[in-house]
Amino acid sequence: MTNFYLNTSIENIKGVGPKVKIQLEKIGIETIQDALFYLPKSYENRTKITKISDVEPGNAYQIEGEILESKIYYPGRRAFYAKITDGTGFIQIRLFFFSNPQANAFIKGLKIRMYGVVRNTGNKLEVFHPSYKIFTSNQRPPLDNTLTPIYSVGSSKISQFRLRNIIKNCINKIPSEDSFEKKIDEVFYTNNISEFSIKESLQIIHSPSVKDEILKIKNFSHPAQKRLIVEELLTNLIGVKISTKRIDKLISPKIIKSEASLKEFKKNLPFQMTKAQVSVIDEITNDLNQIKPMRRLVQGDVGSGKTVVAAAAMLSVAKSNFQSVLLCPTEVLAEQHFKNFSQWMKNEKIEMNLLTGKTKKKEWEKINEGLISGKTKILIGTHSVFQKRVSLNNLALVVVDEQQRFGVKQRFEILQKTSQNLMPHQLFMTATPIPRTLAMTMFADLSVSKIDEMPPGRNPVLTSVMSNTKRDELIERLEVICKNGNQAFWLCTMIEESENLDVQTAEASKKWLEEKSSNLKVGLVHSKLTKNQKDKAINEFREGTIDVLVCTTVIEVGMDVPNASLMIIENAERLGLSQLHQLRGRVGRGPDMQAHCILLYEGELGETAEARMSAMKETNDGFKISEIDLEIRGSGEILGTKQSGGMELKIADLIRDAQFLDKSEKLARELKDRPELVDLLMSRWIGKKEDLIAAQ
Ligand code: ADP
Ligand code: MG
Repeated sequence: MTNFYLNTSIENIKGVGPKVKIQLEKIGIETIQDALFYLPKSYENRTKITKISDVEPGNAYQIEGEILESKIYYPGRRAFYAKITDGTGFIQIRLFFFSNPQANAFIKGLKIRMYGVVRNTGNKLEVFHPSYKIFTSNQRPPLDNTLTPIYSVGSSKISQFRLRNIIKNCINKIPSEDSFEKKIDEVFYTNNISEFSIKESLQIIHSPSVKDEILKIKNFSHPAQKRLIVEELLTNLIGVKISTKRIDKLISPKIIKSEASLKEFKKNLPFQMTKAQVSVIDEITNDLNQIKPMRRLVQGDVGSGKTVVAAAAMLSVAKSNFQSVLLCPTEVLAEQHFKNFSQWMKNEKIEMNLLTGKTKKKEWEKINEGLISGKTKILIGTHSVFQKRVSLNNLALVVVDEQQRFGVKQRFEILQKTSQNLMPHQLFMTATPIPRTLAMTMFADLSVSKIDEMPPGRNPVLTSVMSNTKRDELIERLEVICKNGNQAFWLCTMIEESENLDVQTAEASKKWLEEKSSNLKVGLVHSKLTKNQKDKAINEFREGTIDVLVCTTVIEVGMDVPNASLMIIENAERLGLSQLHQLRGRVGRGPDMQAHCILLYEGELGETAEARMSAMKETNDGFKISEIDLEIRGSGEILGTKQSGGMELKIADLIRDAQFLDKSEKLARELKDRPELVDLLMSRWIGKKEDLIAAQ
């Protein structure tokens, strides 16, 4: 009996035509199984209406009432206001992004039902950008009878409503009798992990009823979640074992260690390397000198100088006449590295290319020729491009920068790129420390090097926290900084994962800055600009013709502008601690400067957000930050954002769920000799079956 039914195309589901299919692909859903395991990032409780007199600011509620008044007004930017009552109190709605028809629909006397986080502003209750429905009193819509799952949709145009229905249809397709699914269920029953079948577990997680104990779900302590968490962990453990076994059978090119060329390289750098950098380079070049494939992680805090370490390793490879690639998470970062490498190696005759999503076809063909012939020695590019379009035949080293993901999927991807049993060495660079339990299980196949020292002359960035209502005070500060020849980032954070609102906030902030000060030259970078527009702004910022760069989180990782001394983060309360630390690390990179970071927040700070802000004020040490992050995260507030732990997992969080690792190991051992089940588990949690086979 073979049973890969759930692995068939999502097209087989009612409601998925060619157009929807394309939108689903954007969020990684290609099969029925992909949809089933596309788990909600949060839930909304729209099963009941809360009286205005009962709300506690800081929480989300569904509220229903009558529209009393509404108006468009201009507090620096165009805004909308409406006032509602349900007889027990008053609440106001505020929108910054709205159309005129939208505003006109708020007619006095009509009813409105809305859902959103209630805040307390100036003694008034307020909901900012709620989701809502306006209706007349005889058209009252029914209440939901399950919690409403919210999925992250990124840049996909699929609506929550449609996605919810598609997933519901998929759950109904899970076979219940006589199937591999059932056999896996049994393993969980007999080991007393969970009494829930996969079907029940998914049902509960995608649409929990109120009695399903939402608190448990929010804390990831519901047995239905445990079932999925353990299943995912054990599958990944099996995956690590399989990929390690395969990799161990392969050999890597032996790279000759040339002290002379390293010495020359160091001599041409504009700075002297730290002891830590030198010793990490030594560890890497020793590894590269073996035919045993290297899998090494370089861990160093933001700003510790990991890039130059990668450059030294890649130079050694080039000198041995082999190729290496440097993979970056963003184009901005790839371009920056390319510039730095070109500068650092300008005395070497090494063919080096940059390849990103924006590289023109003609140019790309030329680059590819160079790669195939072996003429090109160093390739710098983005992950996505490398996965899709590159084949190198002389590849000896892959460096992955700002790697927060060391997933099993990545392990297989790299295996796919190997030819003739020649495995490239691998080097990962990260600012996120890996906890000990994980180093011993999921990452048992990685060696770790630490850059535990900062370049000299770096002062810790001073951080302060400030209410957005005082933002006018920042203008003078910005003017002083820029007059002294320094520069500032003004960062706008995401609203509810919506890229569009993100972009609009950035545009509004740029306009606001320009209106408030005629002395500041303000630039703008966000995801909706063309490459040329982005390049122009970033280059002008680097060169100093722009004083303030307003941007979205595109700059989050890696960006390096040594002259920038101030980082302002709008709506910092929305960001996780490690992300804040990454962002702060964008300033104070030049020697002997005092850099500052200002965290702006809107409304009132919740307990956890407050704790994050104080942690940022207290320390600049990435290790401490990640420790505090773990403590705070225990509360389960940031549902669905698995921000650390180092693997890209669907539901498990290696840190939160470390308690389950032992059990998962045991099950992994038990299951590993049942290939039919392993196949199903691997395709379910790690990747398409064809991809995994291709990697064999
Ligand atoms: P990260 O570890 O965050 O990736 P980068 O590699 O971007 O850090 O380096 C941060 C900045 O420090 C860069 O401007 C880089 O040129 C500079 N830098 C790196 N090593 C040294 C050093 N030993 N001395 C002085 N500056 C250095
Ligand atoms: Mg970096």
